[in-house]
Amino acid sequence: IARKRFGQNFLQDHQVIENIVQAIAPKHSDRLIEIGPGLGALTKPVLQKAGKLTAIELDRDVIPILKKNCANVGELNIVSQDVLTVDFAALFPGETIRVYGNLPYNISTPLLFHLFSFSNKIEDMVFMLQKEVVERMVAVADDEAYGRLSIMVQYYGQPDLLFIVPPEAFDPAPKVHSAIVRLVPHANRALRADQEPLFAQLVQLAFNARRKTLRNVWKGVVTTEQMEAAKINGNLRPENLPLSDYIALTRVLQP
Ligand code: SAM
Repeated sequence: IARKRFGQNFLQDHQVIENIVQAIAPKHSDRLIEIGPGLGALTKPVLQKAGKLTAIELDRDVIPILKKNCANVGELNIVSQDVLTVDFAALFPGETIRVYGNLPYNISTPLLFHLFSFSNKIEDMVFMLQKEVVERMVAVADDEAYGRLSIMVQYYGQPDLLFIVPPEAFDPAPKVHSAIVRLVPHANRALRADQEPLFAQLVQLAFNARRKTLRNVWKGVVTTEQMEAAKINGNLRPENLPLSDYIALTRVLQP
């Protein structure tokens, strides 16, 4: 019954499920949100430990099965909606939440960006993602996988690759390896909220043309003097510049 259009690959390996639940380490006091519960492979064991949770699922057809699989296990609150349109601030107003899920890989990047906008209220996140995406999240300057996603993720929080999951752990098996990542939002971010749009723009401009020099990618936007004030060498390429330099440049342009 799995549907490609919803990115459905259901977990079936019990050891892998147990390892993920251990990584989440659900507690009774947690306000837990699961993204994409599907048939409940993670929902049921987490519910057993936490007693209650909120699950966001777009595919209405799996919801009756999910409910049945979790009946009498705990208090399951289902939000039947596209996660990209969910206002996480409204879920437990004024309280922090913990978020986890075996994510639909086709929306992983927009979903991470959507979650960044709520990072003040998120304690931590534990996600299954395509291994290659997790490698991009944790990459640092000069790494092959370093890019816009690395910089934006590490600006908002601390990502850690916990373990790799092979395709056979799922039904149907995806074409790629997966990985479990923990992402803990920083308690204090390096820039003010009003500086963040400029920071995001500078990063986006840079990686629209990662083979060009920094002088060229920011032509017309950043002057030579501003580049020097931020102590950035304009002959480098976007992939050579650490997160701290993108932050320094933002501060020079918008003190
Ligand atoms: N958690 C289950 C498991 O591990 O077996 C299912 C994981 S499956 C990779 C992804 C799930 O996300 C599916 O149940 C799919 O229907 C759901 N999904 C896909 N797109 C979604 C969206 N935009 N919003 C909410 N859920 C979505």
